[in-house]
Amino acid sequence: MKKISIIGSTGSIGTQALEVIEKLRNKFEIIALAGGHNKELLEIQAKKFKPRYTVLGEEGLEKICSDKENDIILVACSGKVGLRPTLTAIKNGINIALANKETLVMAGDIVMAEAKKYGVQIIPVDSEHCAIHQCIKDISLVDKLIITASGGPFLHKSVDEMKNATVKEALAHPKWHMGKKITVDSATLMNKGLEIIEAHHLFGFNYDDIEVVIHPQSIVHSAIEYKDGSVIAQLGLPSMHIPIQYAISYPQRFEGIKSKSFSFSEIARLDFEKPDYNKFPSVKLAYQAGKVGGTMTACLNAANEEAVFAFLEGKIKLYEIYETVEKIMSEHAVILNPSIDEIFEVDKITREKTIKYLKDRHQL
Ligand code: MG
Repeated sequence: MKKISIIGSTGSIGTQALEVIEKLRNKFEIIALAGGHNKELLEIQAKKFKPRYTVLGEEGLEKICSDKENDIILVACSGKVGLRPTLTAIKNGINIALANKETLVMAGDIVMAEAKKYGVQIIPVDSEHCAIHQCIKDISLVDKLIITASGGPFLHKSVDEMKNATVKEALAHPKWHMGKKITVDSATLMNKGLEIIEAHHLFGFNYDDIEVVIHPQSIVHSAIEYKDGSVIAQLGLPSMHIPIQYAISYPQRFEGIKSKSFSFSEIARLDFEKPDYNKFPSVKLAYQAGKVGGTMTACLNAANEEAVFAFLEGKIKLYEIYETVEKIMSEHAVILNPSIDEIFEVDKITREKTIKYLKDRHQL
């Protein structure tokens, strides 16, 4: 039995992870479940899955992550709360199934260096990185990573339509059901930008060797190109259960939750197109931030998150997310080899600056 804890068990990834574990009861023993604030659901989960203990809120995450009973910890919370506990788990030699984006976007250099130092595996849960993880056999022979993007609800809408998009339109993602913040990030393609940064850290590729391609059907979850030009892609019907199951089971592979059998003839066609970076400047901003490195990606992340919150509250238009992130990034004094404390400080200051900028701009 693999001993596992879940940080963020009451969230979207966490609840789906428990559905996977329910199917694989004889493979996993749950050490701890940690929820953000949904006390009721956490209690229901505790009754059903009988973890050794549960934790509500941020306190207690350190306890879970220093509990060496764990073989693996699924970090599925959203936001920066995932970062410090992940580092604690790494220091304790515990493998990580990583669904939390901020961990690598904010502190990828530190997290990957620590993982190497302690011999810990970081197994990605995100469908794109999971696909790449499945494709790679010998990373030294790979030339290029190809990350697919569904394009979100505005793919074939005009810039004007996008500029005046309502919150409801932005939240109507055609392929994936996710939390609100990530769904807006998918609509602006900022989610893809953040994934480029994650891929850079996870697989150690230069930004110029990471390509984004729009693929509206979300069947090809991502691909890699070998030095000889051969391309290996991972395909499947869109379902988050599968990458979650892969990540927590790795290096084994179980049937568990099985997606509907795949049929090329039923799918019939797969489309690909180049992303329009004028319509979706976020991908460009992410490349830019990633190439600068240091605290610039933490700045991008914080400015974006605050702008997305303002959009969700109806305070700004969708396109202002880009303008805000670009403006805040242009004013950021980057620290190139930051400590974790410096990264958190940049996160805090950037959020304050972003809120003030939006306030001044709109007299909010
Ligand atoms: Mg993804």
